[in-house]
Amino acid sequence: MEYFPAPLEKLVEQFARLPGIGGKSAQRLAFYVLGLPEEEAKEFADAILDAKHSVTCCPVCQNFTAGGLCPICASPKRDSSTICVVADPRDVAAIERSREYDGQYHVLHGVISPLNHVGPDDLAIKSLVERVAKGGVQEVIMATNPDTEGEATAMYIARLLKPFDVRVTRLAYGIPVGGHLEFADDATLMRALEGRRDI
Ligand SMILES: [Zn+2]
Repeated sequence: MEYFPAPLEKLVEQFARLPGIGGKSAQRLAFYVLGLPEEEAKEFADAILDAKHSVTCCPVCQNFTAGGLCPICASPKRDSSTICVVADPRDVAAIERSREYDGQYHVLHGVISPLNHVGPDDLAIKSLVERVAKGGVQEVIMATNPDTEGEATAMYIARLLKPFDVRVTRLAYGIPVGGHLEFADDATLMRALEGRRDI
């Protein structure tokens, strides 16, 4: 039995399909949208279609952009001899926020995950190898997450890049800033010891 008129039910269903949104939240969002003034509801709908139509992948780094080269690849200030490999466009945003990195990126759009049927061909790995094969790249920083899939993806790519004259590095692991040693898990502590450096 449906509790709401069909168009409202349909809107609830659409929200319920979004990641992390359960039935209750979907209803709340649908009711909120229904309560918006016509103009704002249109802006919301237009923003979805506009993003869908105009956001493309940068032909060099595969990060999301609004057509053509992304601002990072297009910038002469960025060091094109260093490529930071990340799984997701959101990771680019996270690293950019640190303001510590002035190289370029390569966005894989996922990690190798046999359980979810994601293989190397489903990711932007071939374009990365081609980029390195062209020459001019001195270092590739593997910045996938330090979980099983992120590790496996980093190792896989590192192996592919072996034949090229390029340094492949991995982001350091360790204790989070502001964290406490006594609360760190064994794997984190072990990696932090391995990755220690001179001060
Ligand atoms: Zn780019």
